[in-house]
Amino acid sequence: MDVWQEARRHLDGLPGGQGLNIAYEAVDRHVARGDGERVAFRFIKADTGVHDLTYSELARQSNRFANVLRTLGVAPGDAVFSFAGRIPALYIAALGSLKAGALFSSLFANFGEEPLRTRLTKGCGRVLVTTAPLYARRIAALRSSLPQLTQVVTVGSTVPEETVGFDGAMAAAEDAFTIPPTDPEDPAFVHFTSGTTGTPKGALHVHAAAAAHYATAASLFDLQPDDIYWCTADPGWVTGISYGLVAPLLHGVTAIIDEGEFDPARWYRIIQEQRVNVLYTAPTALRMLMKAGARLARSFDLSSLRLIASVGEALNPEVVRWGRQAFGRDIHDTWWQTETGAIVIGTAASQTVVLGTIGCAVPGIESAIARRQPDGTLAFVAEPDQVGELVLKAGWPSMFRGYLGEPHRYAKSFIDDWYLTGDLMCRDSEGRFSFVSRGDELIKSAGHLIGPFEVESALLEHPAVAEAGAIGKPDPLIGEIVKVYVTLKDGFAADEALRADVLGFARRRLGPALAPREIVFCRSLPKTGSGKIVRRLLLARELGVPVAGLADLEAPEQQ
Ligand code: AMP
Repeated sequence: MDVWQEARRHLDGLPGGQGLNIAYEAVDRHVARGDGERVAFRFIKADTGVHDLTYSELARQSNRFANVLRTLGVAPGDAVFSFAGRIPALYIAALGSLKAGALFSSLFANFGEEPLRTRLTKGCGRVLVTTAPLYARRIAALRSSLPQLTQVVTVGSTVPEETVGFDGAMAAAEDAFTIPPTDPEDPAFVHFTSGTTGTPKGALHVHAAAAAHYATAASLFDLQPDDIYWCTADPGWVTGISYGLVAPLLHGVTAIIDEGEFDPARWYRIIQEQRVNVLYTAPTALRMLMKAGARLARSFDLSSLRLIASVGEALNPEVVRWGRQAFGRDIHDTWWQTETGAIVIGTAASQTVVLGTIGCAVPGIESAIARRQPDGTLAFVAEPDQVGELVLKAGWPSMFRGYLGEPHRYAKSFIDDWYLTGDLMCRDSEGRFSFVSRGDELIKSAGHLIGPFEVESALLEHPAVAEAGAIGKPDPLIGEIVKVYVTLKDGFAADEALRADVLGFARRRLGPALAPREIVFCRSLPKTGSGKIVRRLLLARELGVPVAGLADLEAPEQQ
C-alpha cells in the first residue's frame, strides 16, 4: 500500500461510503467518535480574552452555515469567498461551505480594491462573507463591478444595507445538515497565488488533499491527540487554511487562532498561557522575535513547546541558532507552495536539523533537480550539490488540479508528468534540499508571494505613471520589500510630493500587503527589443551585480 493510501486509512469517509469531505473528516467524525467536547479552536481576542469552539459546536455552526448557503441559493460547485481577519465566522464559513459542496476561498484582510476585484472576478465569487467595517471600506464600492457576487454576508452588530447579517441568518438556520455525497476529486478550496505575468492564478484543490494534510502533520509535526497547536499564518494565504484549519482538525487537536496583531511579548504570552506544544510559523516572524532579543523569550515559560517549524521563505541559519538559545529547540524548516497544497519537503519531527537545509522530500513525494532544455524537455541533474529547478512527479493528493479558467497556464506548469516548482535548489548526497532562489521574478515579502505584474498594473492607473517595473529588494527583516521603478508621463515633475502621492495611491489600490514601500522615478526603464521591461536588470542594479547577457540593454536612468 502506498503512503497516500495508508494516510487515507486514517480518514473515515462520509457515512455510508458516500465519499470524502474535508469538513466531515475535520469536524463531524470527531463528534461521531465521542470527542465532541474537545476544543477545536481557541480564539485569542485582540484584548487577550479567549473564545473556544468545541468540535460539537463547530459541527453545529458549520451545519447552520451550510443551511444558510442553501437558503441563499448556493448550489454545489458555487464559490464562497471570505474577506475577514482571523475571526470564528471565517472558519465556520469555510467548513460550512465544504459541507454544502461549495468551493471556498479566503482573501487576505489587508488586500485593497484591485486584488479583491481580480480574485473575486476570476473565482466567480457568488457569496462573500466579510465584516461590516470591511464591507463599508472595501467592498461596497466594488459591488457594481462584480455582477456574479449575488450575496454578501456581514459579520457584526450593524448590518449594512444590501447585505445579509451573519448572526441573524445563523440564528434562523437549522442545526442539522446532511453532507451530500462528495467525490474525493470534488473541488474544495481555491487559493490564489501570483504569477510573473498576467493576473493572479486560482489554484484549485480537492477534498482528497486531506490525506496529505493528515500524513504531513503526523510526520512533520508529530501531532499528538492532546496537543495545543498554533499555526500563526493568516487564512488569507494557503498555510492558514491547510495547516491553520485542515491539518490540526483532521488530527482532532486544539488549534490556537490569534485574532490580534503580531507582537513578540504577546506571542510568548500566548505560548506560555495556552501551553502551546507545536508552533508553525514563518521566518519573517522568527526574525522579528530574534530582533526583540533572546532575553524577552527567556522571560516567559516556553517549556511546553515540543516542536517549532517554519515555512514560506528561506530560514536563515542564524535564526535557527538563535532559536536554540531562545527556546532551547531547533527550528524545523518545511517547504511547499500554494500549488503543492501541503508540505512536500521538510525536516520531520524525528529527524535532525541540518543548518542551511530544508530537509528531505516527505514520503510519497517523488522529487528531482532538473533543468529545462531549449527543446522543451527536462534534463535531470543526478550529481549532488548541483543547482537546478525542483520538480515534483505529479500524483500526490494535495496537488492542485488546475488554475481556475486557465488550462493553458496549468499545462505550462508541467513537463511530461513533472510539476515545475519555479524554485532553484540543490540536493545533497543524503537527499536534503537547500533553497537557492526563485527561478522567476516573483517577490516574497513577509512570506507573501507577490506578482510584480499585479503591482505594476495598479501603479499604471495613477495619472502620472507611464511605465513601472517592480522588483523585490532584499530586506533583512521581511525577506524582500516591493520596490518599483517608474517613468512619468510628460508634464509631471519627479518630486517628493508626487512620490508620496503615488505611494499613497498604490497603498489604497493594492492594500498594505502588496503595496510598494519604495518608488524610484527614472527617465527610462531597461527594455528588451520587443519592449518588455527587464526586471532582472532592475534587480541587478539594485544589488550592484553584473548580469550576463543584459549588458547591451539600456540601464535605468534615475531622476
Ligand atoms: P506560496 O505559494 O505563496 O506559498 O509561496 C511558495 C514559495 O515560497 C515557494 O515557491 C518558495 O519560493 C517560497 N518558500 C516556501 N517555503 C520555503 C522555504 N522553506 N525556504 C525557502 N523558500 C520557501
